[in-house]
Amino acid sequence: MKIAVIGTGYVGLVSGTCFASWGHDVFCVDKDIQKIRSLERGVVPIYEPGLDELIERNSAIGRLNFTCNLTEALKGAAIVFIAVGTPPRAEHGDADLSFVFAAIREIAPLIEDDTVVVVKSTVPVGTGDVVQKIIDSARKAGSFSVASNPEFLREGSAIRDFREPDRVVIGAEDERSRRVLTQLYTPPLAASNTPIVVTRRRTSELIKYAANAFLATKITFINELADVCEQVGCDVGELALGIGLDKRIGTSFLNAGPGYGGSCFPKDTMALLRTAQDYGVALRIVEETVSANEARKRRMALKVTDALNGDVDGRTIAVLGLTFKPDTDDMRDAPSLPLIETLQRFGARIRAYDPVGNENARQLMPDVKFHDDAYECARDADAVVIMTDWDNIRELDLTRLKRVMRRAVLIDLRNAFEPGLAEKIGFRVSAIGRAAVG
Ligand code: NAD
Repeated sequence: MKIAVIGTGYVGLVSGTCFASWGHDVFCVDKDIQKIRSLERGVVPIYEPGLDELIERNSAIGRLNFTCNLTEALKGAAIVFIAVGTPPRAEHGDADLSFVFAAIREIAPLIEDDTVVVVKSTVPVGTGDVVQKIIDSARKAGSFSVASNPEFLREGSAIRDFREPDRVVIGAEDERSRRVLTQLYTPPLAASNTPIVVTRRRTSELIKYAANAFLATKITFINELADVCEQVGCDVGELALGIGLDKRIGTSFLNAGPGYGGSCFPKDTMALLRTAQDYGVALRIVEETVSANEARKRRMALKVTDALNGDVDGRTIAVLGLTFKPDTDDMRDAPSLPLIETLQRFGARIRAYDPVGNENARQLMPDVKFHDDAYECARDADAVVIMTDWDNIRELDLTRLKRVMRRAVLIDLRNAFEPGLAEKIGFRVSAIGRAAVG
C-alpha cells in the first residue's frame, strides 16, 4: 500500500519509517526543505535510538522516501497521515490547529478518490469534522474519508512503542476508513495480540487527551506524595513500589521528580481544559494537576537554593541533563528551562551538560556555559543538580565528581542515585521524596 505522511517530525518520521518497515511504500513530506535534504543524505534530524538504522535500511530498498513534493507523495496514496505539530496557542493554551488546517488545504485538491485522510496529530475533539468540511469544499466530486488515529509513542522508545503498542485507537465515521486502517495495523500486530480499539472519530480524538491528562495526573500525584515523604521521613521510591504493585495502580509513571514537561503533557492538559471550558464542563482534577505541576517546576529552584543555605548569588551551579527525559534531544517545555532561568535571576552562574540536548538547549538558554563532559561541567561548581536521568548520568563516578567540585552539594531531582550512596561519599544531598540523612 502507498502511504503519505505529512509532517516529518518526531511522530511523522517514526510512523513513516515503521510503516515502511511493515512493507509499505512510504513518502514522508515536510515543508522544511533542510529537513528533507538532510534525510535524503541519510542524516536524521532528531535523536531517537534505533531510528537511523531503520531509516537507512528502508531507504536503501526504496520503501521510504522523503520529499517536499506533495503531488509526488499523494499520487496513488491509499492513506494520507497528517502528523504536523499542534503547539499551544500563546496566551490561550488551546491547540494551534493552523498547521493541521494548512496541511489539509494543501492536500485537498491532490488526493485521489477513496483516499483515507488520517489525523495522527493530537487534535481537539471535533477537528476531524472541520477537516472533512475543508476537503469537501475543495473537492467538487469524488469520495474520501477522514479518520482519527492518535499516536501514543514516547520519545526515547518511539520505535518500540510504535511497533509494539499497548493498543491502537482508530476513530472512523465510515466503513471504508475503518477497514483500511484495521487492515494496516492488524497483520503486523497480530502476533502480539495488540487490541485495536475502534471508536467514533470524536471519541478517538478525546482518548488521546484523556490518556495524557491521566498520566500527567499520576505523575503529579506521586510528586505531591514525595513532598509528604520529605516532611514525615519516608522514601517515595518505596512508597511508589508499595502502591504500584497493586495491579489496579501499576508501577509506571510513579517516579517522583521535578514536575512533568516535554512536548505533550503540558500542552495537551491545557488544551483539554480549554475544550472542557468551551463546553461548560469543570475538569477540576486536571486543573489542579496543571497548577500543581507549574508551581512544582518553579519550586525546584528554591530546593537548589535551600541546599546552598538559602543563597545562590555568585555561586556556580552545574546542571546535568537538560532534555525533558532521557534518550531524546527534545527540549520543548523541559523542566530545566524554568529551573535555570530562575537560578540565573537569583544570581547563579550556570554550567550545563546534556549527552545529546546541548545543541537544542543552546537556542533556549542564554548565558549558560555548555560542556560535552559531565565532570568538566561540574569542575569548581558549588552544587550539581541532576535534571535528567540519562544512563550515563546515573552511572557517574560520584567520588570523581566530588573531587572536581568546589563544594560537595548534590541536588538529585530524579533520584538517580541509590539512597545514601552520595551521602556516604561525603555529599550533602537533597533528593525528591527522601528525608535528608543525618
Ligand atoms: P514536530 O514539531 O516534531 O514535527 C512536525 C513537522 O511538521 C515539522 O517538521 C514541520 O516542519 C512539519 N510541517 C508543519 N506543517 C507542514 C505542512 N503543511 N506540510 C508538511 N510538513 C509540515 O511535531 P511532533 O512532535 O512530531 O508532533 C506532531 C503531532 O503528534 C503533534 O500533534 C503532537 O502533539 C503529537 N504527538 C507527539 C508525540 C511526541 O512524543 N512528540 C507523541 C504523540 C503525539
